[in-house]
Amino acid sequence: MTDLPTDLTRATAAVLAEALASKTISSVELTQAHLDRIEAVDGAVHAYLHVDHEGALAAARGIDDRRSSREALGVLAGVPIAVKDVMATRGLPTTCGSKMLEGWIPPYDATVVTKLREAGLPILGKTNMDEFAMGSSTEHSAYGPSHNPWDLERIPGGSGGGSSSVLASFQSPLATGTDTGGSIRQPAAVTATVGTKPTYGGVSRYGLVALASSLDQAGPCGRTVLDTALLHAVMGGHDPMDSTSIDAPVPAVVEAARRADVKGLRIGVVKELGGEGYQAGVRSRFEESVQLLVDLGAEVVEVSCPNFEYALAAYYLILPSEASSNLAKFDAMRYGMRVLPEGVDAPSAEQVMSATRDAGFGPEVKRRIILGTYALSSGYYDAYYGSAQKVRTLIAQDFDAAFGQVDVLVSPTAPTTAFKLGDKLDDPMAMYLNDIATIPANLAGVPGMSLPSGLAEEDGLPVGFQILAPAMQDDRLYAVGAALEGALTDRWGGPILDGIPDLPSAGAAGSSNAKGA
Ligand code: GLN
Repeated sequence: MTDLPTDLTRATAAVLAEALASKTISSVELTQAHLDRIEAVDGAVHAYLHVDHEGALAAARGIDDRRSSREALGVLAGVPIAVKDVMATRGLPTTCGSKMLEGWIPPYDATVVTKLREAGLPILGKTNMDEFAMGSSTEHSAYGPSHNPWDLERIPGGSGGGSSSVLASFQSPLATGTDTGGSIRQPAAVTATVGTKPTYGGVSRYGLVALASSLDQAGPCGRTVLDTALLHAVMGGHDPMDSTSIDAPVPAVVEAARRADVKGLRIGVVKELGGEGYQAGVRSRFEESVQLLVDLGAEVVEVSCPNFEYALAAYYLILPSEASSNLAKFDAMRYGMRVLPEGVDAPSAEQVMSATRDAGFGPEVKRRIILGTYALSSGYYDAYYGSAQKVRTLIAQDFDAAFGQVDVLVSPTAPTTAFKLGDKLDDPMAMYLNDIATIPANLAGVPGMSLPSGLAEEDGLPVGFQILAPAMQDDRLYAVGAALEGALTDRWGGPILDGIPDLPSAGAAGSSNAKGA
């Protein structure tokens, strides 16, 4: 067993799970250590929208009691977790990063949350996100952005930047995310953490605030490939409450992560995802990782997916179309906010709806609702939505052809390292381009993972490496990811995240943000 660090918040979930099982530590002690860490650093990071001190400690006490009475518990029982605020949590606020849902306390749990509770993971709190999961930086959160723990002036990725920054600032060993176009993988890339978008239908969507139902996929976030696999195994599986849920066992992700083997595997470098438009340091870290895979015994070839070029355009028709329809339910009658129009004596339902949607939705959400409504309107439907769906089919065919030649595909996760907060806020196109490499997987429903591949030489910031596999072969992501992670740990002399600077701590006045070891 790997040694348990004195600071429990620095340990991996796998190590913590062993320490809990052997009663070296208690879940209460571990949960309290994370609550203390949140207290100390979240003022600077702003990763959490809501922290549930009492609920987390009560859950931890419950697990400790059950362990004392020798009950058989799940592997991760007692390991705390942070939950993206897109997931309904009974009794805990769920805002989805929007004013529209401010103060909403769901009367039920999302299936994923039920699974976490049943597996005994205390929920520390809810993590920040771009409003309704639209964005790549958390700057569209109605509650203000999260900050990248590598450099507090930079974005932690989005939409799930709360979950990635929680992990990179050691405020939780595990977190959940959702990935509609990259919201698990791109935040992982820019923070040197790990995130997986499972096969579409592999993890239940029941109880998630829907963005684009044909693309949305919940998935696990962690600091190592094995931790992410352990969480994937808890979150995944068939759910009769979600009509698109796959009725098959969760792929053997934990076994694959432990196997960590690429010998004889055929790996395809996607020609269209890389090169021009990708930062030099992103490209060099990518090439270095590919070489490490070759050294480990994989066979690497270049593969062309010509229709990926149209993925972004198709996505930004399909996503707004589905989003405009999903967000129609925020009508001021059923959920959350209700605003009465000013100066109207007896306002009609339409007037209340319009005043509420005007006040409750932020500019990015409005932009996409307008785009989607336009794309779906009669006379334009075939030209826009219909064409985008055809492109989607072509992209799925590109994947089929590629997976006829290779076992997995690889690319950089994002074209650049973390940019500065504010840099792309007024330029939606520039923001959308962050997901150029992640979107094809959502359009085709195939699984993808991002893991850290090192730091770019020009700015010292993390770079993500993306692995894509055929549907229901999620285990391949973990076998390749864990093998590469091992080689990269040797290359960097330890986990890449160890290079992160110390954060200013609220408790230690005057402590500097000096570069750590
Ligand atoms: N950044 C992408 C978007 O803005 C992806 C969002 C997501 O995956 N939820 O749509």
